[in-house]
Amino acid sequence: MIYAQGLRKRYAAKEALKGIDLTVPAGTVCGLLGPNGAGKTTAVRILTTLLRPDEGRAEVAGLDVTRDATLLRFRIGLAGQHAAVDELLTGRRNLELFGRLYHLPRATAKRRAAELLERFGLADAANRPVRTYSGGMRRRLDLAASLIVSPPVLFMDEPTTGLDPRSRLDLWNLLRGLVADGTTLLLTTQNLDEADHLADQVVVLDDGRVAAAGTPAELKKRVGGDRIQIVFREPADVAAGLGLVRRAVPGAREPVTAERRVTVAVEQGAQSLMRIASALDSAGIAVEDLALRQPTLDDVFLQLTTARGART
Ligand code: ATP
Repeated sequence: MIYAQGLRKRYAAKEALKGIDLTVPAGTVCGLLGPNGAGKTTAVRILTTLLRPDEGRAEVAGLDVTRDATLLRFRIGLAGQHAAVDELLTGRRNLELFGRLYHLPRATAKRRAAELLERFGLADAANRPVRTYSGGMRRRLDLAASLIVSPPVLFMDEPTTGLDPRSRLDLWNLLRGLVADGTTLLLTTQNLDEADHLADQVVVLDDGRVAAAGTPAELKKRVGGDRIQIVFREPADVAAGLGLVRRAVPGAREPVTAERRVTVAVEQGAQSLMRIASALDSAGIAVEDLALRQPTLDDVFLQLTTARGART
């Protein structure tokens, strides 16, 4: 449903995209991650016809983003970082206005606005000016506005930035419902938990290039399987303990040590944990804490994107 090949974009001296490929199947969620300035917004602007690529091509819903831009605008929804709704108008008027902008007949626009207000829990606030809405309500109204013509493809730029945890969960549930009904969703996010919860596929952008792509599970596996964390009781035991850990899980990456805490990335988490526990126990080395944890998308993100440091 979304396809891009070799997208490049330069702003004056800055090459924001250096050749991006992307494929998003229908009815799935693609999470576009990356540090500030990685090129996420630029990619979304190209895919939503707001910006022309310098090189490469992209199709959304079978339409070319440059050649068929006008037609494509009626088949996509875009909700940006900043709500596009009018503060002075009521929620209902805002949605009716969006309907009219999409050339819906007046009666259809009214009906569609009422449906969306109901669906997004805004029916009670429908006749109040938007300036009285909370952040979560504005975001829901903005999402509703992007859905006025039931687009098959939806783009969202950091949809939950600034929302409290409750509102974020509500929005995630709304998005899941849309996807279950067949919508294809591409969202950018800085919230890795969000990508983990929503995305079927994650694409990590870094400095204008795709640094990694895959399912959240694949990416986590790529950064080295499970993590075992050991906190030694005595600082004096760390050196001897490290030796035992290395022997207990041969072939694992070199453990990372921070004072009394040692972290080692392993493939067979539970087995390795038992081997380490038994080696330390036999040697009489006391531990304060010993834990097995899954790598998170934060581990993936840090490993794949920090090497070149902050650029923007
Ligand atoms: P963020 O997470 O901060 O929103 P992003 O990944 O969306 O970042 P972009 O907004 O696509 O990144 O920007 C990519 C690069 O292009 C950045 O270095 C940015 O400074 C630069 N850039 C973006 N828009 C322009 C512009 N209109 N003129 C010049 N440079 C720009």
